[in-house]
Amino acid sequence: MARVALVTGGTRGIGEAISKALKEAGYTVAANYAGNDEAAAKFKSETGIPVYKFDVSDAAACESAIKQVEADLGPVDVVVNNAGITRDKMFHRMTFDQWSQVIRTNLDSMFTVTRPVIEGMQARGFGRIIIISSVNGQKGQVGQSNYSAAKAGVIGFAKALAQENAAKGVTVNVISPGYIATEMVRAVPAEVLNSKIIPQIPVGRLGEAEEIARGVVFLASDEAGFITGSTLSINGGQYMA
Ligand code: NDP
Repeated sequence: MARVALVTGGTRGIGEAISKALKEAGYTVAANYAGNDEAAAKFKSETGIPVYKFDVSDAAACESAIKQVEADLGPVDVVVNNAGITRDKMFHRMTFDQWSQVIRTNLDSMFTVTRPVIEGMQARGFGRIIIISSVNGQKGQVGQSNYSAAKAGVIGFAKALAQENAAKGVTVNVISPGYIATEMVRAVPAEVLNSKIIPQIPVGRLGEAEEIARGVVFLASDEAGFITGSTLSINGGQYMA
């Protein structure tokens, strides 16, 4: 039986590449999204991967949606906590709403999405929790105190959960991407990319979403069973943690 993988925010950007790569590697994949029905429908028709609309910051919604995923596809063996948002503002101008939207989506989702699957993974003696953080959670970033806090928080979460589950066949790891050529980053004017962003990246280019996805496929595999509580930086050398 193919293992079942749930990818949050799995219909666009980095998550889309992760969903496709896991399918290609033989997993039965469920892709979650928040509200962009058009992008999700396009993704579903192109990939044949079922999509599940729910808000990862809503504990009750996650619990019932994950029950539905398990009823449709079988117990979840791999969770990729990828869904994330930014609400950038200098901290002295930031509203509590901008702070808490980012904390809820990027950090509370560690609880809401992982909690419903962890006991099943423990009982079956196998599980992979893979979390997508960010270089800006490691080094901090102007205008992103909310995002940097959440993305640093997930690293602490992964280390604690990894220790709790190390003897149970369940590994918990983080991938920390640098600048990846998603729609959002491609929308930055070429002049800004070339003068400000690329010069910070020793490899001399943006990363590709598929390069993050390859890391996920590796960490999900049986061969990665000795890796837990670690953070894999995929950032072209921009920040060496
Ligand atoms: P995108 O904005 O391209 O896609 C985000 C995905 O997450 C979409 O599928 C979106 O759904 C979903 N999503 C957002 N909020 C929620 C929510 N509350 N509940 C459920 N799904 C949600 O993001 P990226 O691909 O750029 O980023 C993916 C991850 O990688 C994020 O965690 C991000 O912080 C991280 N990252 C990205 C970098 C980059 O350069 N792009 C760099 C470092 C880290 P919908 O389509 O419905 O909106």
